[in-house]
Amino acid sequence: MTTVRTRIAPSPTGDPHVGTAFIALFNVCFARQHQGKFILRIEDTDQVRSTRESEEQILQALKWVGLEWDEGPDVGGPHAPYRQSERSAIYHQHAQQLVKDGHAFHCFCSSERLDALRAEQMAAKQNPGYDGHCINLEKAEVEKRLAAGESAVIRMKVPREGTCVIPDMLRGDIEIPWVEVDMQVLMKADGLPTYHLANVVDDHLMEITHVIRGEEWISSTPKHVLLYKLFGWQQPVFCHMPLLRNPDKSKLSKRKNPTSINYYERMGFLPEALLNYLGRMGWSMPDEREKFTLDEMVENFDIKRVSLGGPIFDVEKLSWLNSVWLREMSVPQLMQAFQKWAVNPEYLSRVVTQIQPRIQTLSDAAGWAGFFFSGGVNVTTESFAHKKLTADEVRKILQVSLWELEALRQWNHDAIAALLTKISEKLGYKLRDFMFPFFVAIAGSASSTPVMESMNILGADLTRHRLRNAIAVLGGVSKNEAKDWEKEWKQKLVESVDTPQGAA
Ligand code: GLU
Repeated sequence: MTTVRTRIAPSPTGDPHVGTAFIALFNVCFARQHQGKFILRIEDTDQVRSTRESEEQILQALKWVGLEWDEGPDVGGPHAPYRQSERSAIYHQHAQQLVKDGHAFHCFCSSERLDALRAEQMAAKQNPGYDGHCINLEKAEVEKRLAAGESAVIRMKVPREGTCVIPDMLRGDIEIPWVEVDMQVLMKADGLPTYHLANVVDDHLMEITHVIRGEEWISSTPKHVLLYKLFGWQQPVFCHMPLLRNPDKSKLSKRKNPTSINYYERMGFLPEALLNYLGRMGWSMPDEREKFTLDEMVENFDIKRVSLGGPIFDVEKLSWLNSVWLREMSVPQLMQAFQKWAVNPEYLSRVVTQIQPRIQTLSDAAGWAGFFFSGGVNVTTESFAHKKLTADEVRKILQVSLWELEALRQWNHDAIAALLTKISEKLGYKLRDFMFPFFVAIAGSASSTPVMESMNILGADLTRHRLRNAIAVLGGVSKNEAKDWEKEWKQKLVESVDTPQGAA
């Protein structure tokens, strides 16, 4: 009997998402239930958006919730490397094979031609997609053009007739007509593979037996099924899990709910409780009990009990479950949880360094350091009153900074300082005035420890959370306002690029 092998294949392009832990959890349970293996592969073919910081954070966050993998970029394994950026030669060779066998072709179409084609198709209310322009080019011509250095991608040939049938463990047969499937680019002009090629080649070479992933990938699956067929490989069993949703049923998004695992860690949720809650997303124990451990979940696991109705990720329910976990701990266990969270020498030393110049007695510490140990701070509109800044200016300062801080990948004092100084200059404020709302939003008061270092110590997630909260306290930002401010801000950024250095 073949060993069950499942995998999670995150793209390291942002914060570690709770959805990644959710899918990983179900893959772990399925593999462990069958005495199989669980693999972690990093899909970093998008070189512009992928970063090592994000990869490290994803690995760290999955470990924090308590998920472990048998093979991966950090632990190695028989199918190494487990990072797609280190497997280019493999994809190249496989793409060439498909071209040689007549299943894929070089396409020289310019982006202008493709844009025009798309516009035409949209106007005619047709499915947008490649029209096969380069599909029948003579081999000799292709070779000549490639030799001349003309830029080309490799596309797969896709049938125009019939229907693709995908057996899915939860959904039965999913049927998608081939005309709806585009002649997907497999290799980009820069010689790097697209997700589709790399994903299929790796799942095959890494001997993945079950692909358990989010339902947002269903529309890609026909391309994958076809690739397995063209390569002459057996396809894995597919299982498309439901997407996590906000309480208003929309797809879980950071606009409406914190989605970063780091946020939950810094807020003081227990990893066991978060994992438990994710296990309750669309799945239940046979006896419907709410609180269970990973081992208990594995013991009772049955993927067939996943229900397809969009599971709602509700922070209030998670908080309740977390409170159950906290209450049922022994005091030594709870003390350990505090230590792991923030009451440890590493974190304390950073905080103590900040308050040392300000305290007269040790008992002054709580007043100065309290905000380092809370999730949010209590602020009101009045807290933000300032003699030089109007309430609207405060909102704008916080909102523009929040956008920029959300995009900041390296979180350290100097990066934060450089960014905020730049924003303050561009918006035309003295740094001292500009920083006032940050003191209030982050520490709850204008007289507190240096705020940029506070932001650094609190970390990206709690910082952004507090800024968002401050904006909400001040009445929020309407969609139109956000649009105007964004436009205005982008304009200011461009202006600076155009201004030659030194020119005033
Ligand atoms: N790299 C994809 C992601 O970011 C993997 C999707 C899949 O599991 O096939 O989720």
